[in-house]
Order: sequence, then C-alpha cells, then structure tokens
Amino acid sequence: MRRRKTRPVRLGGVTVGGDAPVSVQSMTNTDTRDAAATGEQIRRLVEAGCEIVRVAVPDREAALALPEIRRGATIPLVADIHFDHRLALAAIEAGVDGLRINPGNIGGGDRVAAVVKAAAAKNIPIRIGVNAGSLEKDLLRDGAPTSAAMVESALRHVHILENMGFYDIKISLKASDVPLMANAYRMLADKVDYPFHVGVTEAGTIFSGSIKSAVGIGILLWEGIGDTVRVSLTGDPVQEVRAAYEILKSLGLRRKGVELISCPTCARTQIDLVRIAGQVEERLAGLDTPLKVAVMGCVVNGPGEARHADVGVAGGRGEGLIFRKGRVIRKVPESLLLTELMKEIDNLINGGDRDEGFGNAGADSAGSPGGG
Ligand code: SF4
Repeated sequence: MRRRKTRPVRLGGVTVGGDAPVSVQSMTNTDTRDAAATGEQIRRLVEAGCEIVRVAVPDREAALALPEIRRGATIPLVADIHFDHRLALAAIEAGVDGLRINPGNIGGGDRVAAVVKAAAAKNIPIRIGVNAGSLEKDLLRDGAPTSAAMVESALRHVHILENMGFYDIKISLKASDVPLMANAYRMLADKVDYPFHVGVTEAGTIFSGSIKSAVGIGILLWEGIGDTVRVSLTGDPVQEVRAAYEILKSLGLRRKGVELISCPTCARTQIDLVRIAGQVEERLAGLDTPLKVAVMGCVVNGPGEARHADVGVAGGRGEGLIFRKGRVIRKVPESLLLTELMKEIDNLINGGDRDEGFGNAGADSAGSPGGG
C-alpha cells in the first residue's frame, strides 16, 4: 500500500503525516469542566493505546480546567472549539498541543489573526474539521451536502490560514454517510498535501458504528489516505481506540497487541471454543506486544489454517493441541487449554523464547503509546 505523501505536523511528541505511522485518537465524553473525571478517562484511553486525545471546550469553565487536564495527560491534548476565539486563546495559554477550530467560523479577521498568531508562537497545529451536517448554507445543493461542497468548505478555511502564513494544518471531512465522506477525502487528497484526520462521524453504537467506521476508514486507508484516525462510537471511548487498532491491524498498518484468529466453529468443534476465544481476548486485551494468537476448533484444519499465528490452540475431543507457527508442540486436556496457552504466550513474551516473525514491533513496540 502506498501512502499519500503528506506534510508532517507535530502535536507534542506525536507526528501526524509524513512517514509517521497512522496514529489513533479519541475524544473524551466526560464534562471537561470536571478535570478529575476527564483525567481519569484519558488515563484509561492511554492504557488502551490512545495516542492523541481531544476534549470539547464549550465554555470558559471548561477552558479553565485545561491546565489541570494537560498536566495529568501523558499524550497530546487537543482542544475542540466552536466559534469562540477567546476559548481558543485560553486553550493555547493552557498548553494544549493542538486545536480543532474552523477559522471561518470564529468571526472577523482580527480574531482569526489572534488565534493564528498564538498557535504559531507555540507551534500548535490547527485541525480544520468539516462536518457534512454543518456546512455553510451557500454550499448546499438543494439543502443537502455533497462531497464537493465539503471540499470547498475545507478549502475556504485552509485559505484563511494560508493567507496568514499558517501551514501547520490537519484536515478532516466527516460525514455519517460513508460514500459522501470517502469521496470528499479522495477529492481533497488531489488538492492539498496536509495530513488528514479520517473518521466517520456519528457512526453509531459500538457494534454498528465499528463496522461503519471500519468500512469508511478502511476504504481510505487502503487507498493510502489517512494519517490519524478516530472511530466515533456512542459508548465508552476506550472502545473507539480498540476499534481503531483493529482497523489498522487488519490492514497491516500497525502492529500492536493481539490479533486474534479464531474459527467460526462447525460440526467438527468438540470444545467450548466460543468461551475460550472470549477469554483469550479478554485476558490479552491490555497487551502491547504484537502477537497473533489462534483459537481453532479442530486439529484437522486448525493448526494448518492458522500457521501464520505465533501461537495457538486447536481443540479435539476432551483435549487440545498447543501449536506455534502451525507446528504442534504438545497435547493438553481441555480443562488446561487456556492455562497452557497463556503460559506459552508468557514464554514468548517474557522468556526470550521468540519464534521467527515474532517481536518485530518496529514503531509500535510495547509501552510507547505516545510515540506514534
Ligand atoms: S477450524 Fe475446524 S472446527 Fe473450526 S471451522 Fe474450521 S473445520 Fe470447523
């Protein structure tokens, strides 16, 4: 896959665009004015692998909470601001690492100039976030948004910043309609080299929203478009981070934590595979080290079909096999299958007992959620 060439921007310690890996971001859904609750949610997001976090700053009180949130956060913090340039100035003053604000929506040129000057002084990039649901009225066709209108809207905001000599820009073109957003990103990719933050907005609940996001974000990433991703879900934002990594892992763009390979089960299955697969997933949820783990229903097909897995189990009648890279290494009773698999994984990770292809973490190595 050839990634689109983009001009890199830096948010704190994280680069977005250029040769940097596609980063994962999320947004808190706590009340930003409650710095303790927001800080705790950011901590959980970081634990899940989140690399950039955004908080909404709807009013002065929320802006006043930013210094405390900034002090507690170990990843770059982005302030999401609509309309009020004073909030943007307060956020910059509070030490945020990025702003999401549309310069065309904050009033006259002097207001934009004040924000741009303050952002430039602190090397803070600005994300222009176009949303199909809130396009300028003159751009709508028969009242409805189009991809071309989204691009036009983004370019208007871009030109405002460029005319002030500001190029530290990221852009998003979000819609809840996948073809609308995907076409908009494609069209804009031909016109600018700024990095893109990609996502499907208001995607839905955890199950349906993850699928919709995977399709929308996946189409673009497969075409090389996208430098940072946010999956928007109605639910715990930690699930957004998990979903984002699943999308990136499935395209081979990031290697982090477990990639679980499990068979759908069939009449050959003679162990409680659904339970075992669920337990494996749960127990390894916090793992950073890239690892492919297979949970297969039968010995006939299992080890062979999952030969690319670092380690796996295949069920039999009342017993199972532990295998590595498709090679069976021992037989254990079903009751011990999970325990033995975990021991094997522990050996692989901690025992210096690494097989070929394992541990090639590259830029995604363990324990560096802020390094992407
Ligand atoms: S691995 Fe075995 S049990 Fe699982 S679906 Fe394939 S044939 Fe059936």
